Amino acid sequence: MSKLAALVRHEILPLHAYKAFAKAFPAKLDANESPWPLPAEAQTKIAERVASIDLHRYPDAGAHLLRESLARHLDIQDPDTLVLGTGSDEDLAMLMRALSQPRAGKTRAAVLYPDPSFVMYGLRSVIEDCEAVPVALDANFQLDLAKMEEAIARTRPNLIFLATPNNPTGNAFREDDIVRVIEAAPDALVILDEAYGAFAKKTLAPLMARYENVAMMGTLSKIGLAALRVGYVRLPRPLADEVEKVRQPYNLNSLSQAVATLALTELWPTLQKHIDAICSERDVLGAALGKQAKLAVYPSDANFFLVKVAGDAEALAAELLKRGVSVRAFKGGGRLTGHLRITVGTPEENRLLLRSLAELL
Ligand code: PMP
Repeated sequence: MSKLAALVRHEILPLHAYKAFAKAFPAKLDANESPWPLPAEAQTKIAERVASIDLHRYPDAGAHLLRESLARHLDIQDPDTLVLGTGSDEDLAMLMRALSQPRAGKTRAAVLYPDPSFVMYGLRSVIEDCEAVPVALDANFQLDLAKMEEAIARTRPNLIFLATPNNPTGNAFREDDIVRVIEAAPDALVILDEAYGAFAKKTLAPLMARYENVAMMGTLSKIGLAALRVGYVRLPRPLADEVEKVRQPYNLNSLSQAVATLALTELWPTLQKHIDAICSERDVLGAALGKQAKLAVYPSDANFFLVKVAGDAEALAAELLKRGVSVRAFKGGGRLTGHLRITVGTPEENRLLLRSLAELL
């Protein structure tokens, strides 16, 4: 093994493989999924559609039906401005692979993103041989424009990822600030990651018409279809054609393509109902969490809350788990130590969470 260990790229050695709870819990509030399964009649429609798939054939490499349904859903004229990924995780990897020509005088392309934000921006940058440039958010978890502008000037990034609403802080960034970042980096691509956009009830997509260096990223994972692994990035057309070149031809399997197409068309009213239910449960849960003296709850535009615990947050998460409530704790000693991220569940899940917190705090 020791000789073979020398094969491993040095950037990979210190990394840790991604591990997530796959287990079911009475209240699974750790992964920002939708808590609502599809109703029986929708499941029957899906079963019928899936039964008609030719499993002995490769999928449609261009995912044409899904691409067209998604374009209609997002009100996009040209479906080929969309690059589809197995989750937006794959989209961000493809962006880093295709758009990472080092600038003159540099050996690697820089990828800039706020901190704290989605961990994959940093992790994937390292894997794709880019330079990860995290830039601290301000005290309210908003963009720190002075720091962003300084980092842009210093590192000349190829890509800037802004998740809005942001994970794990839950807040949307101010649109004026986002525009300032876009204008400060006219030769970088600014990817506005709206993974949680459905819960903010607002999209920044119109910015694509105003600025040629803006892309929009999205996913079906948070709105009830995490199992499908369908994400997308919408790019200015010439860049979409380049990023398509690095996409694995059959990245989206036939089952995901078929079910996602059905979800964005016939089943959409059901999904929208679930999104609306999550938003109203968010208000109820936020108010109830706010009444806990030992918790400070940050405002959320997403389907989860970041909560600061007066005391040991990791120990609290472990105790919650014993009561069947799985939430996300943060390890590693950074700014998120002492915080929990709690996904909005069904009313029943949220009651179990609140009951357990009342016992423990
Ligand atoms: N962007 C953000 C901000 C996220 O929080 C996540 C999921 N945690 C993703 C992208 C990736 O989601 P998926 O790969 O499931 O589409």
